[in-house]
Amino acid sequence: MIFVLAANLVHVAAQNRRPLKRVPPVRNRAIANIVREIDARNIEATIRKLVSFGTRNTLSEQNDPKRGIGAARDWLYAEFLKAAEASNGRMTVEKQSYEQPKAARVPEPTIITNVVATLKGSQPEATDRIYVVSGHYDSMCNSPTDAKCDAPGANDDASGTAAVLEMARVMAKYEFDATLVFMAVAGEEQSLLGSTHFAEQAKQKNWNVDAMFTNDIVGNTLGGNGLRDRNHVRVFSEGVPSNETPAEATTRRSVGGENDSASRQLARFIKEIGDAFVPQFTVTMIYRRDRYGRGGDHIPFLERGYPAVRFTEVNEEFRHQHQNVRVENGVQFGDLPEFVDFAYVANVARVNAASLAALAWAPSRPKGVTIVAQRLSNDTELRWEANKEPDLAGYEIVWRDTTAAVWTDAKPVGNVTSFTMKGMSKDNYFFGVRSIDKDGNKSPVTYPRPQGRN
Ligand SMILES: [Zn+2]
Repeated sequence: MIFVLAANLVHVAAQNRRPLKRVPPVRNRAIANIVREIDARNIEATIRKLVSFGTRNTLSEQNDPKRGIGAARDWLYAEFLKAAEASNGRMTVEKQSYEQPKAARVPEPTIITNVVATLKGSQPEATDRIYVVSGHYDSMCNSPTDAKCDAPGANDDASGTAAVLEMARVMAKYEFDATLVFMAVAGEEQSLLGSTHFAEQAKQKNWNVDAMFTNDIVGNTLGGNGLRDRNHVRVFSEGVPSNETPAEATTRRSVGGENDSASRQLARFIKEIGDAFVPQFTVTMIYRRDRYGRGGDHIPFLERGYPAVRFTEVNEEFRHQHQNVRVENGVQFGDLPEFVDFAYVANVARVNAASLAALAWAPSRPKGVTIVAQRLSNDTELRWEANKEPDLAGYEIVWRDTTAAVWTDAKPVGNVTSFTMKGMSKDNYFFGVRSIDKDGNKSPVTYPRPQGRN
């Protein structure tokens, strides 16, 4: 504490400024309660149940009550319905199905079904703002088109699916301003088919998906590299938006912003909230869309302009992913539940849940944020549109040095729609704006565009 005070009082070399982590960013007891209610035992039970269906390959049996993806689908649907009972009718559950035509990993037309639980927001001004959290309940062995082999998929991705179901169970009884969607998707191993279908539907219906999290491979804590890490989770976020237009690219090349996509602001938000509400567990931001050359269910959302991130364990163990279950030279291969750390999955779920709750209680990100293009001034003037939420308290300007990884400084500026940072040149800092409500809930940061440009 003494160190922190000293750091505030003396001039600290700009590059060494500490990130904004000194006090919990939101004083919201309900978030702490949600974090506490997440239970590793429920997560373990879900993972074991999903494994018990033998395989959940997307091409496997859809009508057998015991084995195959259809049994998993129906069980998940029933479980989300149970979770919805605590919501007083605010949570609805549906099977979102479509027929996937023949494709590279789909040898014949196949029904793909996402199980989707929607907890409607209670604030009229915020109810159309949607936060989606997903895991994929399909699995595979060595071959994505082998519908018969055992494919337990305990970590990939019963872990993410179980985390999402547990979040739905805990959060259904809380009332949020904005809408939350808890989703288990299929066809991930067939090239992100279920998530692509959902994201495309969202785009066609013009849904305001303000953020999407995918949880995929969030349960193994002993990597193939021999490293054990139970205390961190990676959050992958892209820098340059997947849907950037040529005009936006021109602007970015001129004024910067390759480290300031909406998805990157989302990752910074998750780090701030997760680290504050889940002590002894730390978000490791990875400034990259996904693992090297690989993909996940957040990508179809990114491609359609929706901010999205991926949660994944720190050290992967490839002997337990996409493998036929077998023992070779005394080594067990296969994605089995004995290699999943259920307490770890629960912590990942807690970071997700705290972040989703903070998002869904906060006002929306400021819209139309611009830096006024006075060319020759050492001041920086920011403008934005007024938020519409009735509980809005005002806004904060945040900034950092251009080489800093996270926002380091913040200044509350009240309920205004423009502010000038005197003596601080837009050439020397990156600035952003976030909204705050009367309970202290803060939105993610909006990074400004230059006035009059894309
Ligand atoms: Zn996966």
